[in-house]
Amino acid sequence: MINTYHENDRHCQECGLILIGRSDKKFCSDQCRASFHNREYSQNSESIRRVNRVLKRNRFVLEKLVSQGKFQIHKKKLEELGFNFDFHTHSRRIQDGSKIIFCYETGYHRQSGDEYRIVRKELI
Ligand SMILES: [Zn+2]
Repeated sequence: MINTYHENDRHCQECGLILIGRSDKKFCSDQCRASFHNREYSQNSESIRRVNRVLKRNRFVLEKLVSQGKFQIHKKKLEELGFNFDFHTHSRRIQDGSKIIFCYETGYHRQSGDEYRIVRKELI
């Protein structure tokens, strides 16, 4: 019988070579293991950096408003300033059932219409 690809063959996760030996083996060599993990690590840190950039930007926008004494702002204006509503760090539900959404220590709370109130709070 010709030795071809079998479903059950295990392959190196990096280079695809058929693995021989222990059944928990995932790589053919230390070199393949290292390249695989290095790539995985740099991809992870790239997506973390991307999210961090957005969060920092959001925090910057809110902090700037606070420093100017502005505690009420329209959604459109926030977006114009580069605020991204898709990303935040945490949220707190308050007594009336609504939520304050935080980017680190500064949060925003939706009022009637598309107005937002800026809230500052210690991180928990
Ligand atoms: Zn390999």
